[in-house]
Amino acid sequence: MGKLREEIRQMTAIDAHCHPFLPNEVLNYHEFARSFSLTVLGPGSIVEDPRCGSGTVLQEFLLCQLSRLLDCRDLPDEVMERRNGLVAMGNQYTRLLFADAGLAGLVVDSGYPQPTIDLDDFRRRVPVPAWEVYRIEPLLQELLQEQVDFYSFESRYQEGIERALGAPGCVGLKSIIAYRTGLNVGVPCREEAERAYTAWQKDPSASLKTLRDYCLLKAFVACRETGKVMQVHTGAGDSEIHLATARPELLYEVLTTDPYRRTRTVLVHGGYPWTREAAFMVSVLENVYLDLSLISPFATFGVAKALEDVLAIAPVSKVMHGSDAFRLPEMNWVGALYTRQALAAVLGRLKGEGAISLKFALTAAEAILSGNAKTVYRLGSWGCENHE
Ligand SMILES: [Zn+2]
Repeated sequence: MGKLREEIRQMTAIDAHCHPFLPNEVLNYHEFARSFSLTVLGPGSIVEDPRCGSGTVLQEFLLCQLSRLLDCRDLPDEVMERRNGLVAMGNQYTRLLFADAGLAGLVVDSGYPQPTIDLDDFRRRVPVPAWEVYRIEPLLQELLQEQVDFYSFESRYQEGIERALGAPGCVGLKSIIAYRTGLNVGVPCREEAERAYTAWQKDPSASLKTLRDYCLLKAFVACRETGKVMQVHTGAGDSEIHLATARPELLYEVLTTDPYRRTRTVLVHGGYPWTREAAFMVSVLENVYLDLSLISPFATFGVAKALEDVLAIAPVSKVMHGSDAFRLPEMNWVGALYTRQALAAVLGRLKGEGAISLKFALTAAEAILSGNAKTVYRLGSWGCENHE
């Protein structure tokens, strides 16, 4: 177990789903702790001081791990003083975190936060290559506001996604249709989409579901034609998610229908908490994969449980590490720590039971941490020249 844990600690990791963050800021502990929350509906779920017995396991883990990294006591004020001292020195702090987590690359959904963070600027601030995944919903929003006719809407949407896919370092498209009209995506024809669009122009309270479904399917096709990846948000997200229609199984019809089933598709967040559904889907659908983002770090010690559910049925080649980091580089860092911990726990236990060999355990860990992301997203050497 010790050997396996150590070997896993030495492996590099690619964060296969995260978001760009703003330049590091000096924060007090209250602000820092609140950043590790999926609540966007105002104050509520998170209490800040773990030493009062009221914080989260994630906040406690952060204090313990930061005190190790920054070589101080695990007291909120001491940890923050060390952290803020490094933050004030520029990008050095991000370099320290990424080195500790063994992070070697990021696949970044540039559509969050809004307004967007300039990716070229972000790339200058992180010590590893950052490949882009382009989110379709902000483009749709922009085009809807223009109130053009359906023909112009459709052609400009098509041009927009093709332009995005053609940008250097862009490896795919992303959809958050689970936040809009749900994953119960149908397969509407062009006439149905046009009818929905025209109805919405006459009455803005009319449903855009048919149009959104139609546009999502166009994104699937564009990804397939360019050999790129379609990321679909599944399961939990921030507190604005429509949880009732976020189950990954709702996408099953599309993922088994030609030509969409031929697009390499990633179920982002592994459908959490419907992780077993997502794992089953990737086990039976040739071009469908999942990542562990959001699960790691937000499910904390439960990352191991989720990983266990996934690996019970899914091929190891279908599973990727991710963090869903969105505000601070500590999120990328702590996500990688949790995934490594979970890999060591689950693979170590299976090896101890004689269920797998050490060789299988090491191969699986390497694949999940970085190998699968390289293969699925076809991450070449783009961006690597700046980060020797
Ligand atoms: Zn995300």
